[in-house]
Amino acid sequence: MKDVRDFESWDYTQIPLGGVSIEAGNSDDYETGGWRSIRPVWDKDNCTNCMLCWVSCPDSSILVKDQEMTGIDYQHCKGCGICAEECRFEALKMIPENEAEAE
Ligand code: SF4
Ligand code: SF4
Repeated sequence: MKDVRDFESWDYTQIPLGGVSIEAGNSDDYETGGWRSIRPVWDKDNCTNCMLCWVSCPDSSILVKDQEMTGIDYQHCKGCGICAEECRFEALKMIPENEAEAE
């Protein structure tokens, strides 16, 4: 049995990655939204469809159709907050997951 604290003996293919495969092109297969502790909440009325959030999201979780934002993919959004940080129009704010669940 390998001693997990002996990092020098690991190569990159053996590193446990939280259950996510390192193969390319499969991120859609993992519902990484379960990792989230805070979530972005979208205010459609303030949104100008500038797409700053869309280009900034590292998880492709800003949903867009016909060049307009339509929502957030909570199955894959990890709650990093970049979208809310980038939005210039107060159309995204981050709230704790337990508050979202209570709503
Ligand atoms: S919180 Fe992060 S992962 Fe979620 S939609 Fe915003 S930028 Fe994407
Ligand atoms: S950055 Fe803000 S205003 Fe721009 S599309 Fe996203 S939510 Fe809408």
